[in-house]
Amino acid sequence: MTDCRDCKNVSDSLEFQYKYVDKVKAILQKRYNDKTMLAHVHSYGCQQNVSDGEKIKGLLAIMGYTFCDTPDEADIVIYNTCAVRENAEDRVFGNIGELKHNKERNPEMIIGLCGCMMQQEHISQKIKKSYPQVDIVFGTHVLTKLPQMIYNTLTSHKRQFDISDKDTQIIENIPVVRDKASAKANLPIMYGCNNFCTYCIVPYVRGRERSRKSEDIITEFKSLVDEGFKEITLLGQNVNSYGKGLEEDINFSKLLRTLNEIEGEFRIRFMSSHPKDATFELIDAIADCDKVCKHFHLPIQSGSNRVLSLMNRKYTTENYQKLIEYARKRIPDIAFTSDIIVGFPSETREDFNETLRTIKEVRFDSVFSFIYSKRVGTAAADMEDLTSIDEKSEFFQELLAAQKEIGREKYQSCVGKSYQVLVDGEGRSGSEYLTGRTDGYMIVDFKGDKSLIGQFVTVKVTNSLGWALQGEIINN
Ligand code: SF4
Repeated sequence: MTDCRDCKNVSDSLEFQYKYVDKVKAILQKRYNDKTMLAHVHSYGCQQNVSDGEKIKGLLAIMGYTFCDTPDEADIVIYNTCAVRENAEDRVFGNIGELKHNKERNPEMIIGLCGCMMQQEHISQKIKKSYPQVDIVFGTHVLTKLPQMIYNTLTSHKRQFDISDKDTQIIENIPVVRDKASAKANLPIMYGCNNFCTYCIVPYVRGRERSRKSEDIITEFKSLVDEGFKEITLLGQNVNSYGKGLEEDINFSKLLRTLNEIEGEFRIRFMSSHPKDATFELIDAIADCDKVCKHFHLPIQSGSNRVLSLMNRKYTTENYQKLIEYARKRIPDIAFTSDIIVGFPSETREDFNETLRTIKEVRFDSVFSFIYSKRVGTAAADMEDLTSIDEKSEFFQELLAAQKEIGREKYQSCVGKSYQVLVDGEGRSGSEYLTGRTDGYMIVDFKGDKSLIGQFVTVKVTNSLGWALQGEIINN
């Protein structure tokens, strides 16, 4: 077993790694007689992970791999894992277990694991001991070392583990393979997080916050527009603090204004936002920039100030509601969506009632709610938790029911109105239907030709399903 932390020559600089790209290509060509080498890459969790998965694909593509949709025919399988919730981890362990049979059928197959879950020492130790079919494990900070790790596996047949967290500099120009079919692209503008919300593992597995230089973001953004992407989502754990630590005079509002000036037909989304760093200046930028979607995903997490304090969120529901109030004054049709955790340690019925009250006051367009999931190593994992699982489930069901009613009314109010929709793909309502999202992130199904996928169309809403809309194209 080789631990790359002990290797003297390891570097994740791209120049250094390209030497291994050529070596891997030469080995694969010789060993497999120019057979098409297939790779299956699956990313769990958030869009940041999806974005990392696109870089992993980019590195595999320059080593000569093409991609397949399932692990069954693959010569290399990489699972890019998520540590945010326990059930995501359980799914990964289940899927790795299944790969044992693939490996028995094809002993030359390479199995790699990476991402946030692997960055945790106790998990990588478990993989080392209990999952011998896994050849490569690497953390979030050393993604670009993949060519070297594959080379070492091919030549030494020793297992490779590297979850070091020293290399936290931003590496630009990593090749990327994006799915072009839907015309939507992710563009990371920053990495890591400084906030240490007490329930969250992210700062431990992705390191401290660091922003990309604006010129690098602008260059990549322009190339995405030139490639025909129509919706570009700016990514970061907390995009609202973009620019801190850079030498240039920039913040997220200024970045939005600059990107909005780029020519072309596209729209801009962003995620995620921390309410403590969301400002009126940012809301003004959203209002003024015609290409920035009038949709703000602003995770409130709880409506109880006591729980927010325990979560280390550093805002109150009153501050939060002031932002909403200002935004709705500036942008009357702005859509708000949010995340809420129910059953945080020690949450009482009174705390939960505050959350219910808040969602009824704010009237979010939709809410992503979760029952609290304990994460080893976080501050909340050590907090006393006397709330029973039955009570947490009860809170959860009440929250779903309240939000369902709000959502139903919001969706119903869209009937008769027209929206610009970016066509995502085939719809759920039948084979002749397409689907897409409005600027405010609502799903709309409508009849249309598949050639419209990836294009903007205008849709008049004719019906509400309560969680999605149906309509008809009125021009394209
Ligand atoms: S802002 Fe809080 S919830 Fe978001 S990634 Fe950072 S620590 Fe986690």
